[in-house]
Amino acid sequence: MNVPYFDLPAQIRALRPELDAAIARTLDQGSFCLGPDVAAFERDFAAYCRAPHALGFNSGTSALHVALRLLDLGPGDEVVTTPFTFVATSWAISYTGAKPVYVDIDDATCNLDPAKVQQAITTRTKAIMPVHLYGQSCDLDALVALAKKHGLALVEDAAQAHGATYRGRPVGTFGVAAGFSFYPGKNLGACGEGGALVLSDATLSERARALREHGSRQRYYHDEIGYNYRMEGIQGAPLGVKLKRLSAWTEARRRIARRYAELLRGTPLKLQSEVAGGEGVWHLFVVRHPRRDELKAFLDQRGVGVALHYPVPLHLQKCYADLGYNAGDLPVAEAAARECLSLPIYPELSEAQQEYVVAQIKEFFAA
Ligand SMILES: *Cc1c(COP(=O)(O)O)cnc(C)c1O
Repeated sequence: MNVPYFDLPAQIRALRPELDAAIARTLDQGSFCLGPDVAAFERDFAAYCRAPHALGFNSGTSALHVALRLLDLGPGDEVVTTPFTFVATSWAISYTGAKPVYVDIDDATCNLDPAKVQQAITTRTKAIMPVHLYGQSCDLDALVALAKKHGLALVEDAAQAHGATYRGRPVGTFGVAAGFSFYPGKNLGACGEGGALVLSDATLSERARALREHGSRQRYYHDEIGYNYRMEGIQGAPLGVKLKRLSAWTEARRRIARRYAELLRGTPLKLQSEVAGGEGVWHLFVVRHPRRDELKAFLDQRGVGVALHYPVPLHLQKCYADLGYNAGDLPVAEAAARECLSLPIYPELSEAQQEYVVAQIKEFFAA
């Protein structure tokens, strides 16, 4: 049997007639930069997040960048963040001229450890930037309290966590602003690149709207240096089609995650924990073991697609060498980078495929 790590063609096949019709409507309208379909999607996505404002961006990275631009950060400012994430979390900080300050993660959830965040706060700290990694909410009670106590902004990287909740409230609504990604492999994916900035403050939302469009509120008048970060007009309609499925897809991911947990019970693999109060959306299903590389090679050979998220923590990336971190500085993140393995999880994954994945894992440990 062959179990791909991710099966985007299967997802597209199921939606193909609706996607064709939606994209054809946009072609006929000829609105290719933002436009009515993007505006409709922005309204629907804001409602989905139970947030007052959502703005369509051309990527999650650019949405996160503008989130930090709204804080007027610059050289000398620090943002406390996680080293165990996709690099784009840190790009958003670096693009403003501020410095990412990495603190270690919680071993059970792989998300930011609030106690370590507290220790890293200095007079230069301006913001805390957590990631809801793998689609699982961070410890938001603790992070919101820390931000409040120290007068810091909280910016959520919710790129993997569309619809995840904390104490019943959608993530992306706990801070000043949040960035979501619609990269095709995310739980909600565009037919290309895409992202959204979610905010509650109307004034900040208007400023973000201007920054997205060359810093202009009125065409050819530029109040501040902006970007061309608009969502493509042709992405709005397919995102709208997929958003209608997202709740059902999330339920399917939760079912698959529960089933993995049952089927893997008794194996030497360590599973991720959810934070108390969090209800995740299982963007990834990650298991841990010290013999991760051997297990990955074995599964590759047996036709099971697996992936590493993430093999090198950001404090040890070459691009951040000048920050001066060394191996051993953030040991929990470094161990996670060595031990984490992502198993296939997507709504189209069949029970038979899932059983095959687990059977191969059991064979590996029996040998
Ligand atoms: C995907 C992702 C991003 C970046 O999103 P793009 O749409 O690819 O630019 C940022 N942060 C995290 C945690 C991600 O997984």
